[in-house]
Amino acid sequence: MKIGILSRNSKLYSTSRLVEAARERGHEPRVVDVLKCYMNITTNAPTVRYRSGGVSEELQFDAVIPRIGASVTTYGCAVLRQFEVSGVYSINESIAITRSRDKLRAHQLLARKGVGQPVTSYAHSADATNDLIESVNGAPLIVKVMASTHGNGVVLAETDKAAETLINAFRGLKADFLVQEFIKEAGGSDIRCFVIGDKVVAAMQRTAQPGEFRSNLHRGGSAQVVKLRPDERRLAVQAATVMGLDLAGVDIIRSSHGPLVLEVNSSPGLKGIESATNKDIAGAIIDYIVKDVRNGPNKPKGKG
Ligand code: ADP
Ligand code: MG
Repeated sequence: MKIGILSRNSKLYSTSRLVEAARERGHEPRVVDVLKCYMNITTNAPTVRYRSGGVSEELQFDAVIPRIGASVTTYGCAVLRQFEVSGVYSINESIAITRSRDKLRAHQLLARKGVGQPVTSYAHSADATNDLIESVNGAPLIVKVMASTHGNGVVLAETDKAAETLINAFRGLKADFLVQEFIKEAGGSDIRCFVIGDKVVAAMQRTAQPGEFRSNLHRGGSAQVVKLRPDERRLAVQAATVMGLDLAGVDIIRSSHGPLVLEVNSSPGLKGIESATNKDIAGAIIDYIVKDVRNGPNKPKGKG
């Protein structure tokens, strides 16, 4: 199979592992930078073209694996959509990636299906600051910038006063943000569940450095293998299904009232999970594509 890996950098661990796993299985992988793709969107024979090193060509793949960075979501998803309309299979569809990238929309979609999440509030008006704080039962609470990745825009306010100052400051900066109940009992740990299709193929517990509550590996968190409980496994698969993602990194946190979904990532990194679990996740992704591609390019999963 000709497999296109939509990634800006072929040297990234996840990208090079996917290339390696595809080659090992006798496929023809090729890494393409979405920003070098272009398309004529009005043609009745939609194609994606690629210009690199002064040469322009039409891209032809049997399947694509989108690894679209948060900073290029809009253009990356437009290119992916063009592949979709031209009948190319994608393990994650553009609509599902768009859903998961918008934290507010993702929380709303998960809530509609009754997927457990930390209590989360959102408001536009400055008058609502105190209501926001009360709605999550006061401090300590989390303020989360919508565009946050790698934990960069996730802040803990330990007192109501600090929360109020923080909320007003974010508002002044015109940052879009959510206010969320702080799951203190998780003790700076969360669990990354790696979902492919309707299975959790690997899971790792990430633990924050001392003095830090954000467990992101990019923030110095450490990872160990963890055995999931059946309800956690079900929750992770359900969250990925609601988003319409066949490949997802579902982050769940253990609260005193059961496991809760923190976020659903549509381009989960392979490095942390492969090194923590010693599993060939890249291989599992390629194997899944080879099976699923037979179901055709359009996935009916997800909604909204
Ligand atoms: P990002 O998209 O930037 O990674 P997350 O929502 O995943 O943002 O938050 C980053 C980290 O902060 C999580 O992995 C988790 O360790 C911690 N965290 C996030 N939300 C909460 C919460 N409500 N309670 C406790 N810890 C949290
Ligand atoms: Mg995260």
